[in-house]
Amino acid sequence: MLMNHKTKITVAYGDGIGPEIMKATLAILDAAGANLEYEVIEIGERVYLRGISSGMESNAIESLRNTKIFLKSPITTPQGGGFKSLNVTTRKSFGLYANVRPTKAYAPFIKTHFPKTDLVIIRENEEDLYAGIEHRQTHEVYQCLKLISQPGSEKIIRYAFEYAKKYGRKKVTCMTKDNIMKLADGLFHKTFDEIAKEYPSIEADHKIIDIGTALIAERPEIFDVIVTLNLYGDIISDVAAQVTGSVGLGGSANVGEEVAMFEAIHGSAPDIAGKDIANPSGLLNGAILMLVHLGQPEMAEKISNAWMKTLEDGIHTGDIYQEGLSSKKVGTQEFAQAVIARLGQVPTKMLPASFGKEGKAPMDVALRTKPKAKKELIGIDVFMDWDQHHRDPNVLGNLLRSLDTGGLKLSLITNRGVKVFPNGMKETFCSDHWRCRFKVEEGKILTHTQVIDLLQKVERLGLDFIKTEHLYTFDGVKGFSLGQGE
Ligand code: NAD
Repeated sequence: MLMNHKTKITVAYGDGIGPEIMKATLAILDAAGANLEYEVIEIGERVYLRGISSGMESNAIESLRNTKIFLKSPITTPQGGGFKSLNVTTRKSFGLYANVRPTKAYAPFIKTHFPKTDLVIIRENEEDLYAGIEHRQTHEVYQCLKLISQPGSEKIIRYAFEYAKKYGRKKVTCMTKDNIMKLADGLFHKTFDEIAKEYPSIEADHKIIDIGTALIAERPEIFDVIVTLNLYGDIISDVAAQVTGSVGLGGSANVGEEVAMFEAIHGSAPDIAGKDIANPSGLLNGAILMLVHLGQPEMAEKISNAWMKTLEDGIHTGDIYQEGLSSKKVGTQEFAQAVIARLGQVPTKMLPASFGKEGKAPMDVALRTKPKAKKELIGIDVFMDWDQHHRDPNVLGNLLRSLDTGGLKLSLITNRGVKVFPNGMKETFCSDHWRCRFKVEEGKILTHTQVIDLLQKVERLGLDFIKTEHLYTFDGVKGFSLGQGE
């Protein structure tokens, strides 16, 4: 006899409206016959208030490690310092590198100016300014490091193209700001151009993030799949959800090589908690993404179609209720029952759901190895905290030029990226944070011993160096940007 094995998933009811919308969502999954078994864990406010700064106990982590699938209700992060974002912790510790957020218009049932919108934003989830490496370096200047890696970029970009292929999407648009950040964002764009060549049947284009965001706000219908860096993705996914009116309805997936987490994009809505008026659609759409991920696209379509038919029939929760268009205002659980009653039906005014039934094959996101470039050290940027002589760059410059540094010469000083020595503009505002660039003669290589020697001499001058950055070439190509005016 064939055993019908259920897939075990980890479920967290969360805070605020979380328990109500989870109850409604699971009722729909069960009624539809999704072959799932739930392992319930506790996360969120009560765990934080027990003094666990991550909001998640070790048994919860163990459960995720075992089931690898996490259906999560929103949680409330308590006010005040010391609490770490549970989402960020889960993403980082389980390597959930891809945030996938479909944004669709459900006009006329949800008001939007863009009824044809159907796009998916794939956001890199682990790198960028979200690495959380920040320092205060001087009295006036703070720094947040933006780290972009080649494998991190390759992985998310491959994921975007594989996603497009699997779900029959036609175009992938990359968004960066590489006109300014030529190295970091430039790496992402260059990796995109290289990988795009492997997918000739999918159209590939690039937009600078500022104009790209404006276009999402003005003409979201022109986009299909968008792949971008962490911070830009965070911003544009909210812009897209807002302009299509789908903030309350959107689900999202955070996908890693092993573990994946599915949730609604909205928060725990404490203002309406416990009243049975919350809309469960966001979490339900998260659960639909989960079914697709689990290789149950038919089940995902069945539930999505019943949900759209419920919207079409005018059965609406208070947040989307419109006089004249809606036929009945319902609470959370009644809405779920209305969806259950429509399982097996399809929408007649909106396009039925399609999650690529052919797409059960795993995505090929394996990294391709590249030969290592020849790396050579040719200089060093020494950053100083300096607040003397009315911050006259010429004083600092001449002091550093007076050093006997054996072939390592001061080539320029910049302040906030602008050249101020030699021949700076007297109008340039100078903070107390100076970047002093030393380089060896053309064709020479710098040693670490020379670097240490330079720093000792700088210290003897009574200067406060706060950090250094090495200037490397890779196969002869500069691995550093030039100062403005260099
Ligand atoms: P929110 O999304 O919870 O609420 C914003 C507004 O939308 C509120 O008026 C709320 O009533 C309404 N709303 C949200 N979801 C709704 C639903 N399903 N049905 C009907 N109305 C809904 O955002 P917020 O108020 O800024 O945050 C509240 C809490 O949620 C905070 O503690 C925040 O940290 C947390 N939060 C958690 C997550 C998450 O767990 N993924 C995400 C965002 C915010």
